[in-house]
Amino acid sequence: MGIAFKGRFQNAKILDPKTGYEETTLTLETRWDPLTKRSVRVLDLPIKKLATMDIDEILKRAEDIPCPFCPDALDEVTPRFPNDFIEGGRLCFGEVCIIPNRLPFDRYCAVVVLTHQHYVPLVDFTEEQLFNGFSTACVFLRRLVEVDSSVRFFSINWNYLPMSGGSIIHPHLQIIGGDLPTHYQGEMIRGAREYRQQWEASFWDELIAKEKELGERYIGAVGNTVWLASYAPFGLGDTMAVFRERTSLLNLTDQDLRDFTQGLLKVFRYYQEFNYYSFNLSLYSGEYGGDDSFWVNARMLARRLLPPVGASDVSYFEKLHGEPIAYKRPERQCEEMRGYF
Ligand SMILES: [Zn+2]
Repeated sequence: MGIAFKGRFQNAKILDPKTGYEETTLTLETRWDPLTKRSVRVLDLPIKKLATMDIDEILKRAEDIPCPFCPDALDEVTPRFPNDFIEGGRLCFGEVCIIPNRLPFDRYCAVVVLTHQHYVPLVDFTEEQLFNGFSTACVFLRRLVEVDSSVRFFSINWNYLPMSGGSIIHPHLQIIGGDLPTHYQGEMIRGAREYRQQWEASFWDELIAKEKELGERYIGAVGNTVWLASYAPFGLGDTMAVFRERTSLLNLTDQDLRDFTQGLLKVFRYYQEFNYYSFNLSLYSGEYGGDDSFWVNARMLARRLLPPVGASDVSYFEKLHGEPIAYKRPERQCEEMRGYF
């Protein structure tokens, strides 16, 4: 077993005016991710819930901007794929419609419009909506590798509401694919490969076993998916879902996707209860045609503006040092989330 949860505490001393300038010790913890060795800082602030936010005000600001994903507009203003790639130009199933993204984040970049409804509150998403969205995205990916054999790396992603970077309120996923992984995807793929070579075991299998044994960050299992609070978090509410023994998004069964969407709905309820409102989500695939050392996993983060002035939750740390900051220990988050699983 090569899983190591490495961390180091450091103290900072201040004279605190709140206690008549008595010396007070503040603590921070640096943690290293067990797979990628990336360092993060964990500040355990005594916050349970963040203050509520006026979501209606955010929705109102977007009201006058025409939405390209509402049913009337979609057909007229959104692009189409060439017919020899997707017959008819768009891949649709039920209310789900997959169209090309106008912004070329990768060689193949698609938008999955999830529903006809312009705004869906976090707790109003249904299993069917999410299942249809993710499963149609997987159908698209299977078609992608069929038409272009140079595509080796892909993922399905979601920015929900503007606080997460989402520029359109209407719920939509984003698919990216090409011959280059993203930085973190590449780190995970290499890390899992090296772990397999060094320990002759699957990193993911051993991570799940170790977390289950420790019980501190193991939130629960839904069918074939295991839900963990990330040891080295990227930010607020960082939650990871691992699909047991699935190396590629192309291998996921309908039941896997049902398990995943059921777990996701539980996280949504937790996020809503803790006033998180907005999130980023990525569902990562291993290298297509590569070995079996990678297991498909998803990672999601809550995103919101911080009280009292509505500051961004991303600062010089993330942007200029590549070092994420978490304000709550994952062990505390795990305790909070367990009741929802
Ligand atoms: Zn819309």
